[in-house]
Amino acid sequence: MNIKQNLINIKSTLPDYITLVAVSKTKPLSEIMEAYNAGQRVFGENKIQEMTDKYEQLPKDIQWHMIGHVQRNKVKFMASFVSLIHGVDSFKLLSEINKQAQKHNRIINCLLQIKIASEDSKFGLTGNEASSILQSEEFSELKHIKVIGLMGMASFTDNKNQIEQEFKCLKSTFNELKNLETLNFKPETLSMGMSDDYLLAIDCGSTMIRVGSSIFGARNYS
Ligand SMILES: *Cc1c(COP(=O)(O)O)cnc(C)c1O
Repeated sequence: MNIKQNLINIKSTLPDYITLVAVSKTKPLSEIMEAYNAGQRVFGENKIQEMTDKYEQLPKDIQWHMIGHVQRNKVKFMASFVSLIHGVDSFKLLSEINKQAQKHNRIINCLLQIKIASEDSKFGLTGNEASSILQSEEFSELKHIKVIGLMGMASFTDNKNQIEQEFKCLKSTFNELKNLETLNFKPETLSMGMSDDYLLAIDCGSTMIRVGSSIFGARNYS
């Protein structure tokens, strides 16, 4: 795998406004440094422990994104440094992130995860659930978080039509929720698209893509 060349190839296909999150889960520090040395600064991990270990050992100008499901009792381990939490799917989790961010005297950026896939296994809120959280009094009191947009994961399928429908659905939810902007809800980011579907996601309105295997090669979980 030529990580640098992969990054160059992918970036050459991306409009300027797209943020590329290099998904480095399971990958060693040396490979992350290859991407870093090619100019990449935004990395995504799906396990808090793994992200924290990597944060401690790697350059401090890396922006770490938590893209996996977050357990409330682990928020404290990343609260001092995490740059964006993609998978926020409950008010309770937002409230815990707020509490831990306050301890570090910072504001943590979050995305609300919307369930767009037909599979039961995917986490996320409905558009209505997200809407009622964002309009609630309790939400307006969370001064140490800022919700900057939405995230979604399409179904795991080869059916491009289905994936496109799911992306479009997320984009329209994003457009509706945009009208609810408040002090701590500033919707500007739509995180959707991975290695196999990021160009489709961009066509459907994505502003942030999460790409792993197309940069680093297939993951080995054994
Ligand atoms: C692993 C992962 C990705 C990257 O997947 P690739 O297909 O390797 O690009 C993107 N988003 C989330 C939430 C992931 O867990």
